[in-house]
Amino acid sequence: VIRCRAAVAWAAGKPLSIEEVEVAPPKAGEVRIKIVATGICHTDETVLKGCFPNVEFPVIPGHEGAGFVESIGEGVTSVKPGDKVIPLGLPQCGECSFCMNPESNYCLKCHMSEPQNLLPDKTTRFSCKGKQIHHFLWVSTFAEYTVIPEYAVAKIDAAAPLDKVCLLGCGFSTGYGAAINTAKVKPGSTCAIFGLGGVGLSVVMGCKAAGASRIIAVDINKDKFAKAKELGATDCISPRDCKKPIQEVLTEMTGHGVDYSFEAIGRADTMIAALASCNMSTGCCVLVGMLDSGSEISVNPLLLLTGRTWKGSALGGMKPKK
Ligand code: NAD
Ligand code: ZN
Ligand code: ZN
Repeated sequence: VIRCRAAVAWAAGKPLSIEEVEVAPPKAGEVRIKIVATGICHTDETVLKGCFPNVEFPVIPGHEGAGFVESIGEGVTSVKPGDKVIPLGLPQCGECSFCMNPESNYCLKCHMSEPQNLLPDKTTRFSCKGKQIHHFLWVSTFAEYTVIPEYAVAKIDAAAPLDKVCLLGCGFSTGYGAAINTAKVKPGSTCAIFGLGGVGLSVVMGCKAAGASRIIAVDINKDKFAKAKELGATDCISPRDCKKPIQEVLTEMTGHGVDYSFEAIGRADTMIAALASCNMSTGCCVLVGMLDSGSEISVNPLLLLTGRTWKGSALGGMKPKK
């Protein structure tokens, strides 16, 4: 058993608290990882609020990490102690029908199909002050050591800088992949990105890499605009500066609406605004932001009837392992 520090969420709505925790050794098919770097994604905030589907408290959140393999359980063959790795919040078992399908990155062992509050054998490797602590997405990167099923660990290049590549675990892959894999942005096209956090800025990079000629970045926080421009945004707009609804502003700016729109905020109103911002015929809107669990939105189907497509994207459609 390793004793180390971790940021524990004891109850919904309470801030994280740094605690000394015990991390049990990996069982068969599991890997214990020393986490060196972790990002913070908005989804961790959703966990803290208690609004992530099926989350159970107390829990160690975090799903954007990178580190080294410390030890391996029986039967583990794809990694060995000392390997640099990225934990995968979206696992890849390599055996389910979606893993076998080159078009899909939705492993059936992901959290939507199989709760990941406990490891696959339905026990936890974390404890603190005599209490069992839940895992999050099997990865729990807000701990100095964490135990993860082998199929949710990807080996990476030994030279990779861990403080940068941790973002491949969620934010960067999600945003960049939403543009490249999910929308399949074409050269010369127009794009609008709602929300300029780590995810939205990565969408901007993806649109730029795909050769979009106009990239319109939308956020209510204007401090985000300088970074968005540096990464490829051609226009930046705050809906708060507009007299008309943002979808009307974008439609006027582009003639009939953008070719591709992306929602990377996680709000019902901006999901509908993003959908209405892409053109009525060939426009494609990609949902990346997440609403609180149990929330629903209502949409006028006429928005889709003329040909628009509305897609969702998890981890940017990326298969996280080769
Ligand atoms: P973030 O909090 O860093 O960024 C959100 C941005 O939206 C901020 O810049 C904020 O100013 C802006 N914003 C807030 N309200 C707005 C409004 N009304 N109009 C315009 N802009 C507004 O978040 P993030 O980490 O980049 O994540 C974004 C969303 O993506 C979250 O909902 C997160 O849960 C979700 N997410 C989904 C996936 C996936 O695989 N689909 C992966 C990661 C994150
Ligand atoms: Zn995330
Ligand atoms: Zn699978």
